[in-house]
Amino acid sequence: MSVANGRSLLAIPGPTNIPDRVLQAMMRPAEEIYSGPMEALTAGLMDDLRFVFGSKAARTYIYPANGHGGWEAALTNVLSRGDKVLVLASGRFALGWGEMAEFMGAEVEVLEGSWRAAVDPAAVEERLRRDREHAIKAVLVVQIDTASGVANDIAAIRKAIDAAGHPALYMVDAVASLACMPFEMDAWGIDVAMSGSQKGLMTPPGLAFVAASEKADAVHKSANMRTPYWDWTARQGKLHYMKYCGTPPEHLLFGLRAALDMIKEEGLPAICKRHALLAGATHAAVSTWAEGQALSFNIIEPAQRAASVTPVLLKGIAADPITEFAQKICGVTLGSGIGDLTGKALRIAHMGHCNAPMLLGTLGAIEMALQGLKVPHGAGGVSAAVNYLGERAAG
Ligand SMILES: *Cc1c(COP(=O)(O)O)cnc(C)c1O
Repeated sequence: MSVANGRSLLAIPGPTNIPDRVLQAMMRPAEEIYSGPMEALTAGLMDDLRFVFGSKAARTYIYPANGHGGWEAALTNVLSRGDKVLVLASGRFALGWGEMAEFMGAEVEVLEGSWRAAVDPAAVEERLRRDREHAIKAVLVVQIDTASGVANDIAAIRKAIDAAGHPALYMVDAVASLACMPFEMDAWGIDVAMSGSQKGLMTPPGLAFVAASEKADAVHKSANMRTPYWDWTARQGKLHYMKYCGTPPEHLLFGLRAALDMIKEEGLPAICKRHALLAGATHAAVSTWAEGQALSFNIIEPAQRAASVTPVLLKGIAADPITEFAQKICGVTLGSGIGDLTGKALRIAHMGHCNAPMLLGTLGAIEMALQGLKVPHGAGGVSAAVNYLGERAAG
């Protein structure tokens, strides 16, 4: 018997639940694209994206593309063929970005990491110190790896690069972390930051964002991987049409405008606090269920667990029956494991447009599935989450 009728929820790490206000902002006719209101809309979005990235001076770019497009946009603008790139592995996503760089003609070295822990800044420093000729031109890392559920310490990695006295560009993927946890492009010395619309930014998939520091802009001038569509220089001119290298993705921009308004109204500190609380509640539930020895956290060190997504490892039980139960019987779509965790994990996303009842409903659906499928688990995961929130959210 299904109890799934009612509003269904997405608890996958992208796309995420889209606020009604964002959807409604898109329900309107198209605009003329060369002047007037669209120019003002674009200028405001560029400013607000700069603010969300934590920068005062970075140049921002909006591409009609998904996150992978944002990766390519970032790489093509600052790399030259044969450049060496150091990829800091901590799951799937930095590796994917590095594979793209290799395809495009860079020489890619992976600093091996663990799927169960954050990048070690000391290892980064040690590797960069050995690069005496400064052959490495860019360091690539993700803030939150959506596959492993790790949150890397972006400020600490910057310090490691500085401690090694290395001039490489510091390039950070913030697709699953922007507007979920603090991101400080200027304060952390990030040269190129990128993100996408469909995760913490609560907008439909289809927009990629890149922010570039002055240093990145200088490197860009002589980069030879540039191509017309992604090119920053072409997008820096006055002509509005060229800001998108063609017709702007108008309706996605209308949606993004509404989402950024919501973000500014709630405020980034409150948004980060909300995500931290919801993540903490999720951890309280998973810790309780883990007492049954059938499931556990993927990321071992609690402080390294992401604020936006929690992958849960399954020991000797299949993920599919749990995700199917949650979806068909409860109306909640959970994430499944990807990369090394394919078939071995489920992922609970708590990012973007998510509040306590949405999260508690998701956790409740999982607990129902554990119960219904007779998976051994510690009882009371949902009440642990309720207690966690009840104690902390009141103040
Ligand atoms: C989702 C995601 C991407 C890729 O975004 P797509 O829109 O699926 O191309 C890249 N990096 C991270 C960290 C992500 O979570």
